[in-house]
Amino acid sequence: MLEQSNELSAWDRDHFFHPSTHMGTHARGESPARIMAGGEGVTVWDNTGKKSIDAFAGLYCVNVGYGRQKVADAIAEQAKNLAYYHAYVGHGTEASITLAKMIIDRAPKGMSRVYFGLSGSDANETNIKLIWYYNNVLGRPEKKKIISRWRGYHGSGVMTGSLTGLELFHNAFDLPRAPITHTEAPYYFRRADRSMSEEQFSQYCADKLEEMILAEGPDTVAAFIGEPILGTGGIVPPPAGYWQKIQAVLNKYDVLLVADEVVTGFGRLGTMFGSDHYGIKPDLITIAKGLTSAYAPLSGVIVSDKVWQVLVKGSDKLGSLGHGWTYSAHPICVAAGVANLELIDEMDLVRNAGETGAYFRAELAKAVGSHRNVGEVRGDGMLAAVEFVKDRDDRVFFDPALKVGPQIATALAASGVIGRAMPQGDILGFAPPLCLTREEADTIVAKTADAVNSVL
Ligand code: PLP
Repeated sequence: MLEQSNELSAWDRDHFFHPSTHMGTHARGESPARIMAGGEGVTVWDNTGKKSIDAFAGLYCVNVGYGRQKVADAIAEQAKNLAYYHAYVGHGTEASITLAKMIIDRAPKGMSRVYFGLSGSDANETNIKLIWYYNNVLGRPEKKKIISRWRGYHGSGVMTGSLTGLELFHNAFDLPRAPITHTEAPYYFRRADRSMSEEQFSQYCADKLEEMILAEGPDTVAAFIGEPILGTGGIVPPPAGYWQKIQAVLNKYDVLLVADEVVTGFGRLGTMFGSDHYGIKPDLITIAKGLTSAYAPLSGVIVSDKVWQVLVKGSDKLGSLGHGWTYSAHPICVAAGVANLELIDEMDLVRNAGETGAYFRAELAKAVGSHRNVGEVRGDGMLAAVEFVKDRDDRVFFDPALKVGPQIATALAASGVIGRAMPQGDILGFAPPLCLTREEADTIVAKTADAVNSVL
């Protein structure tokens, strides 16, 4: 077993080009991959048999937990019966049609159709194309700019990497800047003047957005994209009143709203969608991750009736919509989606995400919230984060070179709990599977407190 591991590690070092990885340390064998082998519930293990609680559900995606027979059976059944058929020119499978209906039944009011893709990134690329097409059909060819937010995460394709407002994902890639611009991050802890209430900071963010729309020219601004709660940018819930104020500005200038619910869709905040949780009324919604709990890759764009009617007009005028992937609505992936959404209902996971998530965050705050180097414990539903600071009274941040967040995540992982050092700032993030129990939450909290105290 050990010999085989060594050989695998050598192959990994010499041949595997990992995503989002430091190429130098990996190529020199300084950071060998942990070779994952199995999982059950919230627990995963590697090929040495070491077990960990996965308190980040992979990459916030294994919402039903690992090893669910029902989803595995649905995948196997579909693969045996019909592994593939395309969805072009009106073809479908029972699972693709059923899943579309299940999604619309669960989606916020006013949603009409689902376009399927494979990743959150490609779904946001679809959003951009649909937004441009929409304004062309409406005879507004100048209305094309898209406003995103600093600290937003929307993927790492050419356009979606540009939408993403994190430096790491822009560095040295020469991504197109136009027609994308970034506005203020709704990050009260870091960005608000201390004299401001949350409501005042929300108003400030809405004012900044309005200034940007006016500066760019309202006739040139097509859409605004945002995650209901900032995810990869630091797991930051919106300040009070934020979405209502933002939505009022967008309505005033006829700017479409895309809710990127790749993380929040299908229960993570204790409601089926984050839009319902915060009272957002989107025109387009991006979904992925929790749609299949990552048992197979699947994403989608949920299109509102308002947008759909224009797309129909467009086809009547221009012919078929020239946008499709070979694997749109891939039968195996949509079969996984149907079984996964059924399982979310059967296991009552949306309720559990709200209730156990609230318990987990409260216990985390009790355990580490008063540590001298903890600036904030925050989150919502089954999402939580601890932000570390050098000085909590004056909100002085650590020098990033000290890598305080990664050090704490590494200490935590060594004790058998996987959290995530978020990519920008010293922030330890948690996004456990939605099936987390209180006992498992207690273990994560106790080990987090130990890890924090061992580093700081
Ligand atoms: N949108 C959000 C909010 C995400 O968190 C992510 C990935 O983490 C994406 C889009 C991109 O999804 P993918 O990695 O599947 O392309």
